[in-house]
Amino acid sequence: MSQGSFKDYQLSEAIVRSLDSLGYQHPTDVQNEVIPIALGKRDLVVKSRTGSGKTAAFGIPICELVEWEENKPQALILTPTRELAVQVKEDITNIGRLKRIKATAVYGKEPFARQQAELKQKSHVVVGTPGRVLDHIERGTLDLQRLTSLVIDEADEMLNMGFIKQVEAIIRELPKDRVTMLFSATFPEGVENLCHRHMKNPIDIEIGIEENATMAVQTEHVLFIVKQEDKFNLLTDVTVVENPDSCIIPDFDGYVLFKLT
Ligand code: AMP
Repeated sequence: MSQGSFKDYQLSEAIVRSLDSLGYQHPTDVQNEVIPIALGKRDLVVKSRTGSGKTAAFGIPICELVEWEENKPQALILTPTRELAVQVKEDITNIGRLKRIKATAVYGKEPFARQQAELKQKSHVVVGTPGRVLDHIERGTLDLQRLTSLVIDEADEMLNMGFIKQVEAIIRELPKDRVTMLFSATFPEGVENLCHRHMKNPIDIEIGIEENATMAVQTEHVLFIVKQEDKFNLLTDVTVVENPDSCIIPDFDGYVLFKLT
């Protein structure tokens, strides 16, 4: 994490205040690199992992560049999973709260009509999985003619899950005059091809693993000494108190016993 400040960038008061209320005091390394370039509307290819603060790295400039008066979506963020789509939508909503930015998430396994109704309202930013986004485009329920920014998040996961063809079909429907940002932890050939085919002289940014290590230091470790027979009750108490959205519970040998999501 750098010791810079979000006030160092050309950000409006509403965005800086939202970041402050989220407790984001200093930009992370990836934010430091990405924000000024994205505000300058250049294409970007970013090698970084979850935990580096990458969502806010693209979320902050997107919220800054959104024109509130425009009712049609100005930014589209593609994610490989609906969990990530929901998370990114929440992050964008939080960052854009004081600017009253409206983000909508569209993903499979949720009624189409509900999303259709939401997309009819003002929606500055749309976050979604490729299949459902394409579905909305093809059925005429997602108008992307006013789009100015595209983010492809976790591109290597998109590739692993077989979504690249759908991503390319979506890109073909977008205005050519736009900024494209691609984030990926690894760069297999399929992801490289995506960059070459659909981006304009992108700037490459690579964030070292030290960044992730810095974020990991913020993880709190707690040790409970407990009798074997009390283990399950303790586990129940801890999960009730901590109330995590998801967690992994390893057994004695370090193998994963449960994954609660
Ligand atoms: P991400 O890599 O986008 O999944 O972000 C990892 C976590 O870091 C999330 O919980 C964010 O809320 C948090 N985060 C992002 N940027 C900052 C920042 N500048 N300061 C503190 N926490 C941050």
